[in-house]
Amino acid sequence: MTFEEFLKKNNQPSFRLKQLNLALYKQYIEDWSEFTTWSKELREKIAQEFDFNTLKVINHQKSKKGDTEKVLFSRTKNKQLLETVIMKHKDGRNTVCVSCMVGCPVGCTFCATGTMGFISNLTSEEIAEQVLFFARKLKKEDKKVSNIVFMGMGEPLLNLDNVLESIEIFTNPEKMAMSPSRITISTSGIVKPLEKLLENDFKGRLAISLHAPTQELRESIMPIAKNNSLSELMTVVDKIIDNNNKRISFEYVLLKNINDKQRHAEKLVKLVKGKLIHLNLIPYNPVPGFTLQTSDRNQIDRFSAVLSRARVPHTVRVSMGKDIDAACGQLATKKTK
Ligand code: SAH
Ligand code: SF4
Repeated sequence: MTFEEFLKKNNQPSFRLKQLNLALYKQYIEDWSEFTTWSKELREKIAQEFDFNTLKVINHQKSKKGDTEKVLFSRTKNKQLLETVIMKHKDGRNTVCVSCMVGCPVGCTFCATGTMGFISNLTSEEIAEQVLFFARKLKKEDKKVSNIVFMGMGEPLLNLDNVLESIEIFTNPEKMAMSPSRITISTSGIVKPLEKLLENDFKGRLAISLHAPTQELRESIMPIAKNNSLSELMTVVDKIIDNNNKRISFEYVLLKNINDKQRHAEKLVKLVKGKLIHLNLIPYNPVPGFTLQTSDRNQIDRFSAVLSRARVPHTVRVSMGKDIDAACGQLATKKTK
């Protein structure tokens, strides 16, 4: 049942929905009992129909510096585990990194989540609740969630309907009212749903996990690339840039001796030069049990220098929260722990 259906069933006027949205998504109430705008009777009815929480906190870790927090949640419906991270940047941004799945079917060779395989899709409520959890906490310090990135567990484009529904909650002016430009979907580059986003005129930001400048190399580290070729991917990316006239990010995890050589950087320049993009170089975060290695600092500098000479806009990502395994690709709640 949706909230709309609940109100109809109980013969309630339409302004009740506005009150509900206000309480949940702007005032960030923490329990139905706090929803005192409604009569006790109506409050009890909604509490019977809808569990206030779809996720339960199992563990909440903070980094030593205090700039990163990671929460392990259990789904109230089946106790499966997922993780969410918040990064509190010095410039005031508070970015929540949400999971959209438990596990991930894509199986990239460098990713801890990938080792779990696909376990399940999260619902839009479960995705939204990860953000609400931090929004409620921040409100107490007079702060807000400023950015949301789909860079936790799972591949957002393989759970697209629920992801888009959660984004509706984040951006609807009557709900969280965030600007779509503050929401980033990160994808391993699945072509069909990217075309769907283009058709639907998706207003959020996109980050494409590129990780290799050639089809052959990309296929060897990202199995999904077999059926989503680099050329098809670049074609749809070009169309999206044309359509939105907004910069797209490419992510590139640097893996020692695999994709971090000068020749890779040169090929990468050829692939992206002249496009309205920003390249994020991400030093690989070692995953226990994997033999892959992080590139040396001077190799990263050499790689970056090739890009600089060709004037490709890029940054080397500084990862936050390493001491609590909150960095990219380290979210996994089974096997690797
Ligand atoms: N499934 C989506 C979003 C989640 S992963 C995607 O793949 O884009 C978020 C980012 O973390 C991706 O760019 C991913 O490639 C990167 N990542 C995964 N494992 C990593 C690791 N061990 N070290 C550094 N980055 C990693
Ligand atoms: Fe899935 Fe992204 Fe990890 Fe690849 S990097 S396995 S797509 S979560």
